Amino acid sequence: MTQVQVFLPITRPCLSREEEEAVIEVIRSGWVSQGARVAAFEEAVASYVGARYAVATSSCTTALHLALLYCGIGPGDEVIVPSFTFIATANAVLHSGAKPVFVDIDRRTYNLDPAKVEEAVSPRTRAIIPVDQIGLPADLDAIQDIARRHGLHVVEDAAPAIGARYRGERVGSLSELTCFSFHARKVITTGEGGMITTNNEEMATQARIGRSHGASISDLARHQANAVAIEEYPVLGFNYRMTDIQASIGIQQMQKLDWILERRRTLGERYTAALGDIEGLEPPFVPPDVEHTYQSYCVRITNGRHSRDEVMAAMMERHIATRRGVMAIHLEPYYRRRFGAVSLPVTEEMARTTLLVPLFPTMTEAEQDYVIESLRSVMIR
Ligand SMILES: *Cc1c(COP(=O)(O)O)cnc(C)c1O
Repeated sequence: MTQVQVFLPITRPCLSREEEEAVIEVIRSGWVSQGARVAAFEEAVASYVGARYAVATSSCTTALHLALLYCGIGPGDEVIVPSFTFIATANAVLHSGAKPVFVDIDRRTYNLDPAKVEEAVSPRTRAIIPVDQIGLPADLDAIQDIARRHGLHVVEDAAPAIGARYRGERVGSLSELTCFSFHARKVITTGEGGMITTNNEEMATQARIGRSHGASISDLARHQANAVAIEEYPVLGFNYRMTDIQASIGIQQMQKLDWILERRRTLGERYTAALGDIEGLEPPFVPPDVEHTYQSYCVRITNGRHSRDEVMAAMMERHIATRRGVMAIHLEPYYRRRFGAVSLPVTEEMARTTLLVPLFPTMTEAEQDYVIESLRSVMIR
């Protein structure tokens, strides 16, 4: 068996000398939060995904919050979301004042099941949040079609999906608003960070004002002005800004994005080829018309002999980090207390049986072989 002595982490961000130098340059300039680097990062993301506007934020959670607010969503409204996602998706809905209505997922893609979305639409529904879970785009055409017929907003949670494609088009150009994350666990990172992309100028402007305390003049505009400019605060805003320190890292990460995606896909497909014949272990399904980012590599334990948690413990003994697949938000104590029991059989089954294994661009074939061999021997035990 291939022996890798080092502890194998779940991820290793691709940060190196370029990011280090970019940060030093920003710090030396003294302009760490005026927004020039933020604007350049926004431009890079907008042009990469094919959207007219991009607005950087402090996280994907705050991006989702702003996106919902500027769709006019608030108390009394319902927003359709999957439960099989990170808790932030539904928390953003609660922060807007609206109620998250949980809908079950498709058992092959782990993304929202459009037929169940349609059934969940009520007179109070104002928006749908499709999540591109683990980097696999949701069935966006079907969701947009439902939204159009019922007059609903679509705020796509593409936290793990920068660079993913749906029917040839990049995620970020397809929904009314799309939100990305640059947390350290995502495809590219700025430590923490987020972005809204949209073709709607009005919403982009509102988000830009809202993220920066509701100020009528941005810091960048003020610092570039030749005359004295005094801002006003006509609306209630937030401090949801990204700093230029983070954006300088983001600019470097964007230059590596295609390479990162290529490495992720190569490793993801290599896992699938190697794991496909292990009984009781199901590799991820990728529909033919989409491109996965493999933000994580998610397998499912399908035989009764091993629980997912036992497999995680056995992998840990081999010094391989794993994570439970994706959570079921409706089962968390806060949501149970507030909304009572909700039944989502597919979500519950997948939350119990899915498992993430290490995948990151600098992973070597020897490291990956060690994970593959370990999974194989754990599963045949
Ligand atoms: C990571 C993640 C988020 C939260 O992103 P942050 O940038 O950490 O706020 C939201 N939704 C999904 C699907 C995620 O994977």
